[in-house]
Amino acid sequence: MNSFDSPNTENQFWMKYFSETQESSLDEEIERLSLEHLTAQSISSPTSENELQELFDFQEVPEEARSLNDFVHQIENCLIPHTINTGSPYFIGHMTSQLPSFTRSLSKLMTTLNQNQVKLETAKSTTFLERQILGMLHHSFYGEKSSFYKEQLFHHHNALGVITSGGTIANATALQLARDHSLAHYGDVAQQGLTKILAQANIERCVVICSSLAHYSIKKVLGMLGLGQDNLLVIPIDQKQQINTQILLQRIQECQTNNWHIVAIVALAGSTECGSYDDLATIADIAQQYNIHLHLDAAWGGPVIFSEKYKHLLSHVEQVDSITIDGHKQLYSPMGLGIVLFKNPTLAQTIRVSANYIIRQDSFDLGKNSLEGSRPAMAVYLQAILQLFGKQGLGELLEKNISTAKKLASYIDTSTDFELLTSPQANIFLYRYIPYHLRAQPLINQSDKKYIDQINIKLQETQKKQGQGFVSRTKFSLAGNSSIIALRVVIANPLTSFKHCLQVLEEQRKIVNEIITKRNPRS
Ligand SMILES: *Cc1c(COP(=O)(O)O)cnc(C)c1O
Repeated sequence: MNSFDSPNTENQFWMKYFSETQESSLDEEIERLSLEHLTAQSISSPTSENELQELFDFQEVPEEARSLNDFVHQIENCLIPHTINTGSPYFIGHMTSQLPSFTRSLSKLMTTLNQNQVKLETAKSTTFLERQILGMLHHSFYGEKSSFYKEQLFHHHNALGVITSGGTIANATALQLARDHSLAHYGDVAQQGLTKILAQANIERCVVICSSLAHYSIKKVLGMLGLGQDNLLVIPIDQKQQINTQILLQRIQECQTNNWHIVAIVALAGSTECGSYDDLATIADIAQQYNIHLHLDAAWGGPVIFSEKYKHLLSHVEQVDSITIDGHKQLYSPMGLGIVLFKNPTLAQTIRVSANYIIRQDSFDLGKNSLEGSRPAMAVYLQAILQLFGKQGLGELLEKNISTAKKLASYIDTSTDFELLTSPQANIFLYRYIPYHLRAQPLINQSDKKYIDQINIKLQETQKKQGQGFVSRTKFSLAGNSSIIALRVVIANPLTSFKHCLQVLEEQRKIVNEIITKRNPRS
């Protein structure tokens, strides 16, 4: 027997799953189910969480293989009907929406190719594609000269950015870089550990500064990086839902007085809660003055850079040190794509790790700068969207969604039963329902406030259960006030028109009438 000969497995049933012939019939079935799902009317089934627990109750791994038919039935009956129809035009409460149809075909290609971006030996062309895409995005935000990109695009040691599985890991990468770079003067944090470096530097406390609207991923990252969530200095927002830059400045000065080390300031471009964009011009000046790393979390709102009409929201973006953008939000890629860009590509060296057996120092291996190891060639989706839409298409798509959001917000603002809570800078805003007897009342007492909150919670939950329309719900405190329950609109789906939005509100009016009549049967 030759050492390359393998044991005879030709007769084993599972070998059929590694041949192509089996696939086509499954393909047809999956395509049928996919089309059914895409044309579904409701957002979800009325199935309760308890029922789902029963449906997915504990089971052992089956001893014997089940048939492909059984498996497809299971998907058809137990899985798909109880998913969320995120592509519904009435689903206007989250950042997940309808994808362009070409992403479905590409996902099949991606699986067929099964490249692993960790190193060149498992991802050849896609390694270079990823660098090219990072260059395109870097240029869109930082607009450096072409000589810069000639030098940096395929630089062995530098990186214009890193592609990640999402915004959380993109933020983690940026803050890791900021932590290590800002302390590099005292030693190598990644090597020696934070405790030792801080002791050596005689630093008592190490902080990250962000606004009260920062995404909770920043908290997670502080925990993960050993900085500690207690060391997140949270700055309140002002009337425009932007970080209060006066208080920001004061806190920075306090840090200096106390000899606290500031790892980074995190600014927001498109806050998750209400879509607000921080005042980058002022923040960038402050960061520069105090020599602090400025990270921009533009996971949601970054793509407005492609809109001539709204790119002013990102003015001075070229001054920030790093930017997070999510591919799977407003760049319409399937789940699992984030991007972090570095203004200065040499900074990426701070987070470089190599391993002799796999990631070589002087290689193009993307794994060098990446927190994640094995990962898919998600840049393929970015290539598709950037090429098939172009700046113009992406800009128009964003403008359409922003215009729908603004129209809906002004409708709510002029309505008598709903109250607009935040006016949209782009395509996210907050509002709530106000019961009839509490309208036009300047002073509302504590129990009335509680009543309004309860009505809005019940309203949102009932609508979700009915599965026709959907907005999300949050607890929000307007500058300086105690928090209230707010309904949240996110217009992300290009198929959502103003009319769809009105239908969602109409359904809410009906629900709320029923709730109130039930509570006060005689009124
Ligand atoms: C969505 C979001 C994140 C987190 O991104 P994930 O892709 O969910 O990990 C971070 N920041 C902001 C502002 C976001 O909107």
